Amino acid sequence: MASQRDRLYKQIQRLSLDEKQALREWLDQQIEAEQAPPEVEPQQGREVAEKKQIGRVTYQAELVKCGKPNCRCATEEQLHGPYWYAYRKQGQKLKSWYIGKELKLLEAEDYPDAER
Ligand SMILES: [Zn+2]
Repeated sequence: MASQRDRLYKQIQRLSLDEKQALREWLDQQIEAEQAPPEVEPQQGREVAEKKQIGRVTYQAELVKCGKPNCRCATEEQLHGPYWYAYRKQGQKLKSWYIGKELKLLEAEDYPDAER
């Protein structure tokens, strides 16, 4: 049984030279877009205090609401934090990680399901 990838490679081999070159350009764009750190809009009610983009990851220090209705963050708009979050593209998806009060850069083992 040929794997999906084998079938895909066979289909690519059958393309003309022009089609292969167009495919290579398209792939380069896909790879570049996926490797770039994402631009992240803060969730509703949050404010971004600081942002750093390192490698493929966007780190944001965010002021957040805790969700308790009587908390000062709800009644007086005094948000909590800032807390650092990391954002990274994984294929078409945007993934996020909570880091904490102090910025700590993500290591490869922090995202075990990521393709490296
Ligand atoms: Zn609160």
